[in-house]
Amino acid sequence: MRRTALVTGAGRGIGKAIVEALGEEVWVGAMDVQFDDGPVGDAQFVVDVSDSAAVDEAVSSIAEERGGLDWVVCGAGIVRDRVSWKMTDSEWDAVIAVNLTGAFNVSRAAALSLRSSGHGRLILISSINGVRGSFGQANYAAAKAGMIGMSKTLARELARDGVTVNCILPGYIDTPMTQGLTEDVRAAAIARTPLGRLGRVEDIVAAVKFLCDDQAEFITGIALPVDGGQLLGASA
Ligand code: NAD
Repeated sequence: MRRTALVTGAGRGIGKAIVEALGEEVWVGAMDVQFDDGPVGDAQFVVDVSDSAAVDEAVSSIAEERGGLDWVVCGAGIVRDRVSWKMTDSEWDAVIAVNLTGAFNVSRAAALSLRSSGHGRLILISSINGVRGSFGQANYAAAKAGMIGMSKTLARELARDGVTVNCILPGYIDTPMTQGLTEDVRAAAIARTPLGRLGRVEDIVAAVKFLCDDQAEFITGIALPVDGGQLLGASA
C-alpha cells in the first residue's frame, strides 16, 4: 500500500502546495477548517487543530482506514498582529491555540502511528520569526519558537522508533497570509533578503519533500530556515 500522509492547514497556501506535491507519491489526508478553494488531497477533514478531541478522531480514522500513518506535516497557522501593549487576550490565545497547541494536538494524536511506521516523519512549519522576533507578533513569535522547542523534544522521544521530527522556518512566502501586506512591507522584506525575492510555496515544498525522503532518515531535531538568507540579517 502507498504510504499515508496527513497535512494540516491544507486548504490553501503552503499546506495546499505540500498536499499536491506529496500526493504524487503517497496518499494524503488534508486537514483544515475550510476548503474554500475546493477539495485537495485524497480525503478532506474539516477540523480545527486546536480542538484536540476532533483531531484525535480524525487522526484515528485515517490510521484505521489506511492501516497506519507515515508522514505528518503541521502547517495550520494564523496571525493576529498587534503591538504587544495593545494585544488582546483573544489575539494572544487564538494564535497560541492554533499554531502551537494545534501542532501539539496533531503530533500527540499521530505519535503512536508514526512510531509503528518504520519511516515516520513529523514536520512542523514554524517561522524565522520564532527565532528573530517580529514587530507586532509577540503571539506568533512565541508560538513559532514554542514549536521549535517542542519539535526538539519530540525528536528525542520518537527517535528510538526511527521517527524524525524537524521544523521548517519559512521566511516571507508569497501566500494569502502575506498577500495582505502593503507593497512597502513586501518591498522591505525583499530588500532584507540576500537572495532578492520573496519565497515561493515551491521553496517550502522542496524542503518538506527532502525531509520526508528515506535518504533524510538521519536528520532530526533541526530547525531549517527556508528564507533566502533573511536570518543572516543586514548585509555587512
Ligand atoms: P495561509 O493563511 O495561506 O494558510 C493557512 C491555512 O491554515 C489556511 O488554509 C487556514 O484555513 C488553516 N487554518 C487556520 N486555522 C486553522 C485551524 N484552527 N485548524 C486547521 N486549519 C487552520 O498561510 P500560509 O502562508 O500558507 O502559511 C502556512 C504555514 O506557514 C503557517 O503555519 C504559517 O504560520 C507558516 N509561515 C508562513 C509564512 C509566510 O510568509 N506565508 C512565513 C513563515 C511561516
